[in-house]
Amino acid sequence: MKKVRTRCTLCNEEAIYYLRSRKLRLCKRHFIEYLKTEVINTIYKFEMLKNVKKLLIAVSGGKDSVAMIHILHQVCKDLNIEMLGLVIDTGVGEYSKRQVEKAREIFEILNVPYRIERFSSYGIDITRPDLEKLTKRPPCSVCGIAKRYIMNKVALEENCQAIATGHNMIDIAQYALANILTGNLEYLKKLLPKVDEGPRMVRRIRPLYFIDEKETKLYVDLLDLPHVEDRCPLAEKVENVQNTIRMFVRELEDRHPGSIRAFVEKIPTRIAPLIRVEGEEKYGICKICGMPSKGEICSFCKIRMLLSGK
Ligand code: SF4
Ligand code: ZN
Ligand code: ZN
Repeated sequence: MKKVRTRCTLCNEEAIYYLRSRKLRLCKRHFIEYLKTEVINTIYKFEMLKNVKKLLIAVSGGKDSVAMIHILHQVCKDLNIEMLGLVIDTGVGEYSKRQVEKAREIFEILNVPYRIERFSSYGIDITRPDLEKLTKRPPCSVCGIAKRYIMNKVALEENCQAIATGHNMIDIAQYALANILTGNLEYLKKLLPKVDEGPRMVRRIRPLYFIDEKETKLYVDLLDLPHVEDRCPLAEKVENVQNTIRMFVRELEDRHPGSIRAFVEKIPTRIAPLIRVEGEEKYGICKICGMPSKGEICSFCKIRMLLSGK
């Protein structure tokens, strides 16, 4: 009978992870080293922290953002970059409370100062049964607009030159495919590892751009880092195209390891450069809140008005 090799390819310790795309078996130490190196290489390759003196790190309390802040924490220390954590309470019952709790725990373990922002302070309740009817948007769309707005606002208030978010490779592939399917190709220009959109739009960086979600999960488990295990209940409810695309992306990567990585690698190098956006996207100033906006009133203020009945 063929003996199964369960030793690390690099050091002969017991292997705990098989990196199928590179045919490497890794022990705990080498897996952690591999993941950190991957993230750090992405940060340097895309010059994510160039000219950054203070970084806002958005943490949802999930495995991805917890792994991200754990790695960034060391990078920022080495580069002498100040850090500020941000957790947004989206107001989805007990789930959001647990998220805030876990985010707070990791900020305190790493000794990173942080802010907690709540949708409720802005008059946003994404659990309202009439949300979709009033805003003509599903909850995840309202949630996404509100989160991006709050992150940018906090970054401006706190003089941060970049915002790090924990989107992983599977998220990126899912968003890219969804936007290709709907013909919304301009969006791919914003789905890059680093996005500098314009004045008063703080740079967004995605250090986990090439990292599989399975790897962030293993990382937080191996290091016993606090994180929420469950998904947002609103995501569970929506039986939509996004969920189906995500299942497809997951299955493709599982059956053909490296295939999604190869696709995601081509977004900044081959796909986005081919996309021409008609006319420059110009940002003005929202006449209500003074934040960057493509129209007279920004999407966030429009949503707030619709929800408050004004
Ligand atoms: Fe927001 Fe939707 Fe994500 Fe829940 S699943 S946190 S509602 S974007
Ligand atoms: Zn090893
Ligand atoms: Zn506004």
